[in-house]
Amino acid sequence: MQHTQYISTRGRMAPAGFMDVLLAGLAPDGGLAVPDRLESLTADRLENWRPLGYADLATEIIGLFATDVPRDDLAALTRAAYGEPRFPQPVVPVTALGDVADGLVLVGLSEGPTMAFKDLAMQFLGQAIPYVLAKQGRVLNILGATSGDTGSAAEHAFRGQEGVSVFMLSPAGRMSPVQRAQMYTLQDANIHNIAVRGVFDDCQALVKALSNDADFKEAHHLGAVNSINIGRIAAQAVYYVWSWLRVTDAVEEGARAGYRVDVCVPSGNFGNIYAGFLARSMGVPIRRLILATNENNVLEEFFTTGVYRPRSATDTLATSSPSMDISKASNLERFIWALLGPEAFVQRWTELEATGTLDLRDQLSRLGEEFGFVAGRSSHADRLEAIRTVKERSGRLIDPHTADGITVALRTMEPGFPTLVMETAKAAKFPQTVAEALGKDPEAPDIIADLLTQPQKVETIDNEEAPLRALIEERALTS
Ligand SMILES: *Cc1c(COP(=O)(O)O)cnc(C)c1O
Repeated sequence: MQHTQYISTRGRMAPAGFMDVLLAGLAPDGGLAVPDRLESLTADRLENWRPLGYADLATEIIGLFATDVPRDDLAALTRAAYGEPRFPQPVVPVTALGDVADGLVLVGLSEGPTMAFKDLAMQFLGQAIPYVLAKQGRVLNILGATSGDTGSAAEHAFRGQEGVSVFMLSPAGRMSPVQRAQMYTLQDANIHNIAVRGVFDDCQALVKALSNDADFKEAHHLGAVNSINIGRIAAQAVYYVWSWLRVTDAVEEGARAGYRVDVCVPSGNFGNIYAGFLARSMGVPIRRLILATNENNVLEEFFTTGVYRPRSATDTLATSSPSMDISKASNLERFIWALLGPEAFVQRWTELEATGTLDLRDQLSRLGEEFGFVAGRSSHADRLEAIRTVKERSGRLIDPHTADGITVALRTMEPGFPTLVMETAKAAKFPQTVAEALGKDPEAPDIIADLLTQPQKVETIDNEEAPLRALIEERALTS
């Protein structure tokens, strides 16, 4: 097998291996790392993988991206990440929702410890990053800001791991009780929960200020594991292959090769669906990539008009699917690079930075015809209706983000093609909206009721740099 190297979308980074870009955030030229080649997944190859369990399939798929990690090492990492007790097997259950609509399928991405799809990628990083750090004799202090899902997924992935600590900022009093409990009940010595008297943007501004202080960053070995991390993307590509295999398990053997499905993905930062785009580009028979947004519809606007117009934080609405309240999709740069090619990309991206808008109407027909993208959006009322409909017809509870996906899938699906909706969180994580939809509180699962009674560990600071710097100086791991 050939080596895969990583280059920057902005074209000014020497090719680097997976392990090198795994620990880096943005490329030194401000761009994002992209693979310089994609492996081709032929029908035979996919068929050979059919008997594999999730962890072993992950070794195969991530191995296509991480060609510099020895195979046996990678197998140990994926087994640790996707074994019990972190995930109940089969890790990603694939369930037909034929009672809701013929051909509708739910892909369960939220069975991990924090009940959101981010666990699938983050648990891999929780193994892979300590592995790379140990090899390179380094330590890492992860500094991040969260409004909910990412922070708790990171903390659960890195708790108790060697050579890594996590400093996670969250807006004091602004997360749901379940989200708070998932983070603040962790008592591990390497997990530091810091509640900031402010909003999420304040937390993010503090992280940015410290990360931009190159001396402080280097002195304290600060780093991030945000949604642009290439390891997260590689780990997310796995479940697109997995879910295609599970849907075609039920198809007659002779008809499996090239059996096409549609995939619908509730989207915010374009990380999840970008992994689907890579899987499709490698040859997984995905016909259409259906992108679902909520009222914050920058991505829906781009894929339906060809114009990408990021919005400011003040123009971002607070919706009932909060993990998709994003108005600048950080991973979209990777797709636009693939769309335009390296040279045209650099030129057109300058246009975006100069004017705040990227007008790609000349590429609009390619988005659908060549790349299979379709987009739609949901409103709060749509999500409530989707939660009700799925409950009434199938007995199953879905969360408001998945409800975005169901809404858009039901509007766009076509006969003859199974439509797979990515379940990006569990209903129990967002009980308020589910209760509003059903007119009564859903019963909290025992595990959540129990979690809410456990002692919490969090320090609250003012919205200022000084107390945060002091905390990091005192607690950060030193090499
Ligand atoms: C992060 C998240 C999303 C959006 O995923 P992206 O990769 O940012 O597009 C959707 N739903 C839930 C529940 C999430 O946590």
